[in-house]
Amino acid sequence: MAETKTPQALVCNGKKRAQQNELNGNHDFILVKNAMVPPSSVWEDPAAALAAARHEFGEHGGVNMSIEASAMFTVMEPENMGIPVVEPETMRRILSGELRPDRDFFTYSRHLNPTVMNLGRQMAALEGTEAAYCTASGISAISTVILQLCGSGGHVVASMTLCGGTHALLSHFLRRTCNIKTTFVDIGDLDAVKNSIVEGQTKLLFFESLANPTLAVANIPELSRIAHEKGVTVVVDNTFAPMILSPARLGADVVVHSITKFICGGGDIIAGAVCGPASLVTSMMDTQYGALLLLGPTMNAKVAHELSERIPHLGLRMKEHSRRAMAYATNIKKLGLKVIYPGLEEHPQHELLKSMANKDYGFGGILCVDMETEEKANRFMQHLQNCSQFGLMAVSLGYYETLMSCSGSTTSGEMDPEEKAVAGISPGLVRISAGYLGTFSQKWSQFEKAFYKMQESGGLFHKN
Ligand SMILES: *Cc1c(COP(=O)(O)O)cnc(C)c1O
Repeated sequence: MAETKTPQALVCNGKKRAQQNELNGNHDFILVKNAMVPPSSVWEDPAAALAAARHEFGEHGGVNMSIEASAMFTVMEPENMGIPVVEPETMRRILSGELRPDRDFFTYSRHLNPTVMNLGRQMAALEGTEAAYCTASGISAISTVILQLCGSGGHVVASMTLCGGTHALLSHFLRRTCNIKTTFVDIGDLDAVKNSIVEGQTKLLFFESLANPTLAVANIPELSRIAHEKGVTVVVDNTFAPMILSPARLGADVVVHSITKFICGGGDIIAGAVCGPASLVTSMMDTQYGALLLLGPTMNAKVAHELSERIPHLGLRMKEHSRRAMAYATNIKKLGLKVIYPGLEEHPQHELLKSMANKDYGFGGILCVDMETEEKANRFMQHLQNCSQFGLMAVSLGYYETLMSCSGSTTSGEMDPEEKAVAGISPGLVRISAGYLGTFSQKWSQFEKAFYKMQESGGLFHKN
């Protein structure tokens, strides 16, 4: 970490180390908040917040920050003229949290790493939270945050429509290993949510802002109000809607991400983040009780550096993903297929999403086409991939190429048929993550080609 450009005077004025007098005694200024995003009152929009976040320069003045590719850090005292002297007392104070990383006190990268912290600052700015830290995957962000907030025997109320992995984590793994019990509810039914909360026992309410794969939109302000009335913490998975929705600004306490998807955008990295109050992020790094430090799924510095360089164009990408998804949804509907997309007026939560969304980012890059049966879904995807090169049959989302998967048999495959039925996942549901490669007319003619081929080869379509 070399020079920094920042409105917060307390953050590293280009000075590598604190002075001795700062090490002893007065360290009121060593508050984790000082290194975080501007105060919440000035947050208006994710793009504005990202631009206002601290810009970290490279070690030699490079416009991009350097990678702090070190597992461990020396503790050098300034008095020793640059000769590294490991000072056990300083080391102890860093680990205990007494000396903070915003003054360049680091020890070990499973704890805190400057490059990962920088991506964390970007994530906090994006979500308008006080702090954030990054994890090795989306699911590790989710599992550690649940474990941090919900002790053994605790109760969780969760949406019944969740990413398959999250659903399995809550319904099986955490129940078996930690006796954490989850009640799954339809979060569109606010009374059901209210009635599922057991006062004194329920620790958290967990849901996805835009559900995978049904694209049901969560009423974040109302759900947060209901939870907070009963002292329950609200954790929202915002993987499907970065930039578009800012759950923490709508009332949620914690936002988790699978960075693997839109934020990464290249389909080449598995990563995640926990965004929330500084007190939570700090507690997750506690040496005795911190789920992130002690279970260890923190992010690698090289990965964090790579991702940091992609955040500046996330907004542009999201706008284009949304624009294409909207155009596909409109056109596919005209062909007579059953389309689910929250940008369409007939989507049951279209108005709700409009009322919550940040301006100009559209309604998201994911749409679904319900082909009714898995067999039809698979045949259609094969035509789309192999006959017309419209997209790729692959799980995941947020890639520049269009991706297609039959959710019931892939990403939600962990759920049993009954669970899928109540979650509204039809067996023929094809989830499409709209890419932005190529011209729209080129891609649309590829879609039509596959559609007519499919129709010729068996008349599978009927106008509805
Ligand atoms: C992919 C995904 C996850 C899991 O994230 P990983 O990065 O694969 O660990 C969690 N939630 C949602 C909504 C997802 O799409």
